[in-house]
Amino acid sequence: MHIKDRDFDLFLPEKDIQNKILQLAEYINRDFQHRNPLFVGVLNGAFMFAADLMKNITIASELTFIKVKSYAGTQSTGQINTLIGLEDNIENRHIIILEDIVDTGYTIQYIKKYLEPASPASVEIATLLFKPSALLVPLDIKYTGFEIPTQFVVGYGLDYDGQGRNLRDIYRLTEETKA
Ligand code: IMP
Repeated sequence: MHIKDRDFDLFLPEKDIQNKILQLAEYINRDFQHRNPLFVGVLNGAFMFAADLMKNITIASELTFIKVKSYAGTQSTGQINTLIGLEDNIENRHIIILEDIVDTGYTIQYIKKYLEPASPASVEIATLLFKPSALLVPLDIKYTGFEIPTQFVVGYGLDYDGQGRNLRDIYRLTEETKA
């Protein structure tokens, strides 16, 4: 798979992703029954994960999206600029943040800190991908789809410089061309 100036290899096929999401949804259905959780999808990357996860959520729940800007190219900048989109009253609500990937953890840490003053009942994280070796802040992630090496990945909502979000599978940067 060639995107812009880089080559990528197939890493996680669609079927594996869907199976894993089904499993995550089952855990959440079990853990959050009668709690009416508010899912908070983090745009843009989590749009596909949020859509497929929600199709398998069978309990009463709500969904909203927020947007955070923190990333450019293939290197995390660790710079968070803004958070937009949260208009819901989250006081006493059970929040489940939906992320495509946790890399350094700065984005999720920022979101959690942003939500805390609004007094939610609980804030949990559900991420499709997690790069444990890249984590730079302490984070308690309740639901993880796949733990992956610290390699740049693209597809299924994740982009390389804006491209590749539409892909059904997840690809990783080919070794020789690693940034
Ligand atoms: P963190 O703040 O370093 O945890 O990064 C989180 C955000 O960086 C994710 O929501 C993605 O948008 C982006 N990101 C981190 N790793 C990758 C990757 O391998 N491919 C594409 N985007 C990534």
